[in-house]
Parts: sequence; C-alpha cells; structure tokens
Amino acid sequence: MKKVLFASSEIHPLIKTGGLADVCGSLPPALQTLGVDVRLIMPNYQALKTTEEIYYKSTIQVNNIDAHILETRLPETDVVVWLVHCPQFFDLPGNPYVDEKGNAWLNNAERFALFSRVVVEIAMNRGYLDWMPDVVHCNDWQTGLVPALLSLEKDRPKTVFTIHNLAYQGLFPKQIRLELNLPAALWHVNGLEFNGFLSFIKGGLVYADQITTVSQTYAAEIQTAEFGYGLEGLLSYRQAQLCGILNGIDTDYWNPATDPVITAHYDQLTLPNKSLNKAALQGQVGLPVLKQVPVFALISRLVEQKGIDLILECLPEMLLLPVQFVLLGSGDKIFQQKLLDFAVLYPEKMAVTIGYNEDLAHQIEAGADIFLMPSRFEPCGLNQLYSQQYGTVPIVRKTGGLADSVCDTLPETLKNNTATGFSFNEATPGALMEAIKRSLIVFSDSVVWAQLQINGMQIDYSWRKSAGDYLALYDKI
Ligand code: ADP
Repeated sequence: MKKVLFASSEIHPLIKTGGLADVCGSLPPALQTLGVDVRLIMPNYQALKTTEEIYYKSTIQVNNIDAHILETRLPETDVVVWLVHCPQFFDLPGNPYVDEKGNAWLNNAERFALFSRVVVEIAMNRGYLDWMPDVVHCNDWQTGLVPALLSLEKDRPKTVFTIHNLAYQGLFPKQIRLELNLPAALWHVNGLEFNGFLSFIKGGLVYADQITTVSQTYAAEIQTAEFGYGLEGLLSYRQAQLCGILNGIDTDYWNPATDPVITAHYDQLTLPNKSLNKAALQGQVGLPVLKQVPVFALISRLVEQKGIDLILECLPEMLLLPVQFVLLGSGDKIFQQKLLDFAVLYPEKMAVTIGYNEDLAHQIEAGADIFLMPSRFEPCGLNQLYSQQYGTVPIVRKTGGLADSVCDTLPETLKNNTATGFSFNEATPGALMEAIKRSLIVFSDSVVWAQLQINGMQIDYSWRKSAGDYLALYDKI
C-alpha cells in the first residue's frame, strides 16, 4: 500500500481561507478510497474547528523549538490528521496567515519554516510515529521548504509539490535564512534565492521530484512571463516534471440534492425546485422576490486577481438592466466599500454581504441563476464547478482552470450539449459586459437555459478521475 504524507497550511473543515482548504480536505479521502495510506499534517491553529477527539502522540525538537504532534481525524472520515502543536506560533487568534486585525503575521517565515521542518522529521520517520511515507505531497509556499530540506537527506521519500496559486510565494528578506538556520547548500540563485529574497515557493519548484498545478491551462500559463512572476524560466526548465491536474470537488458537501442548508433540494429531474431557493435567497438578502428576473451572483475573496475591478466598472451599466446581483465576499477594503456603495444606490437590485459565510455560499449557489468569475488569472477555481453542479450558469474569463472547465455557449456547443456557461477572453469591462448580455439573451429562452443547466449538472466533477491521476503520478516517481 502506497504511503503518502500530505502537508498543507489549511484543510477544510478544520480551517479554511480559500480553495486550498477545499482541495486538501477532499483529495486525501479520495486517495484513501483508491487504497492509499494517506496522512494529513497541518499546524494546530487556535481557530481550528473539529468535532473529533485529539490525542497527544509525541514531541520533537526542531531548530531548538519543541513541537508536539497531536493526532485527530478529518471529520466524517477516518483519514488521520497530525497537528503540529507549537503554541507560540499557532495558538493565537486570527487565521493561518493574518492576525485578528488582518495583518500578516510578522513571523510567517519562522512559523512555516518550523512547520516544514516538522514535516521533514515525520517524513524521515524521526517523529516517533513509526511510519514513513513513500511520497510527501506538499502544497503551496507554506510547505515549500519541505522538498528543499528533504533533498539533503539520504534514503528520503519522493516529493510532489502542488502550486495552488503562484501569486503567493513566501518571499522574505534574505537575512531571515540565518535565523531559520537554513543549510548553506540551499542558498544560491538556483536554490532558495530569488532576486535577493528568500523564496519559500522555490523550495518546491527547484527541489520537488514532481511539480503539479491545478489545471492544464494554468500549467502552461505559468511558463510564460504574463503569469510566471519571474519564475517562468525555472518552470519551463522543469516542464518535464510539471503537469496540470484539474481539481475535483467534494460532491457530498456540494450537492443540491442533499445540501442541508438550502431551502429545497433538487437535481436534474426536479430542476424547477431551484426556484424555491431563488425566492428564499432573494428574501434572505432583502431583494424583491421576483421569479423572472435573473439573479447574478459572486462569492469570492475581494482581490484584484478575481477581477472585482472589472465588475465595479460594469455595475453602472449592468444595474440598469432587469437583473439582480447577490455578492458575498471579503478582502480589499476599497473594493468592499465600493460594492457596498452600489448596494446603497440600488437597494432593489444589489445585495452585498461582506464577510465569510459558508452556509450563505451554499444558499447563493442554490438560489442564483448566473455566477460571475471574471478572474484575471485562476489556477483552477472552484466556484465555477460548484455552480455547474447547482445548475447556476457560470460566466468566466477564459483563463486557467476556468478555461478548462467551462464550455462557452455557441451554436455548435448548444447543438452537441457541451455548452455549460459563457466565457470571454479580454480582461476588460467591455468583454465582461458582452458576456453578461449574451447570457441574458439565452436566459430569456427557458428551454435552452434548462439545457445549459443540465449540461453542467451532468458533469462528474468528483475527485474520482483526478485522484487517480495523482495516484498514477505517485507510482511514476
Ligand atoms: P481562491 O482559493 O483563490 O480563493 P477558489 O475558487 O479556488 O478561489 O476557492 C474559493 C473557495 O472559498 C470556495 O469554496 C468559495 O466558496 C469560498 N469562499 C470565498 N469567499 C467566501 C466567502 N466570503 N464566504 C464563504 N465562502 C467563500
């Protein structure tokens, strides 16, 4: 049986700030179903939420710091999770990356270097857990030092590094490497050094045996200057060990036929029930309950990546049309304020909820007609997948995973029943507005619209296929 240690800074439902947590909470159980002995490891944050019991396992010392290993299970599964308990770094109010006030932890380099060192000790079976993996699967910069440090070990497990978002790299002033006690052998321009900074993500990109990212299109995009942030040369150099595997979704958690927080359950055969969720959503967010008016939605971190500026530029024209818009998100304070201002100006048409609300996210997916994702770049994106499962037709910019998972509505894709949404190329308000108008034309024909919805609902976005692709990769290396 293949043994895989799966390391991440966030895992749903224990703690989540974005899609990384969704993936790290749903891929490992899917791997287990395929017969992999997979164990998860993450920091023991104060905000971590679980219904499962937690046991003490062992204590190890890394870089003169005591780290306690606790063991629990991923809720509603029997996948083992090891929690790295180091109170001075993780037992504090806030989220994995920022404090209570939303400021990045000043010691993020120390926090995730410590986490990475503990992962290395466990990977080398020096954590008193009597278990050694064949493969260590690392995710994003927070675990980037793991492949780098492991590269210096003899008889080590193989390493896979998955890029969930290349925009976040873990760059720190270079002096920090001394405090972190990083081996000098790793410090050079073909190692952890990047333009005079210490780069955690380069630890994964340079030293991992295999690099993956979360869609095929993004795998190609990050080898270009437009998406590569200066790392495109390195990524092209490693292209033989770089591949894209589209994320799956947890189809138990995101399923309109069983979702416990939505008003009315539905599937392809009972699609008209979706309108009950629409009415409930309109009521809940304080918009007029109107059946015929299309409800647009957006659920997102409110950051430039997500094309929020394009939305803001479209809103004056969009809100003159017979539409409603329900938005849930948090992030950049300027975006938040501008969106709230529109909601005040158009109370009958636009409802904005600032904050993070998992239940409302499900209710919006169930109640909306059309989902907007005009991202400037999008490694995979999950909401366009959730939307398709909920019969909510996505409008996306043709980039990354959005390009790989939404099929534009054209005469030929309507004819062969592959159309699932609308996509546009240019990151401009004009191109987004044109896609919105195209969607409204199709929306006015309820028969064609229902076909679009069903085309999306029929697609299998479960982890079945992608987990198999990861397993094949583990076998290969
Ligand atoms: P990213 O990881 O870049 O934020 P993804 O589309 O991959 O983008 O994943 C985002 C995840 O976070 C989705 O599950 C989405 O529903 C969720 N999400 C984002 N913002 C919110 C919010 N304000 N409230 C609830 N869920 C949110």
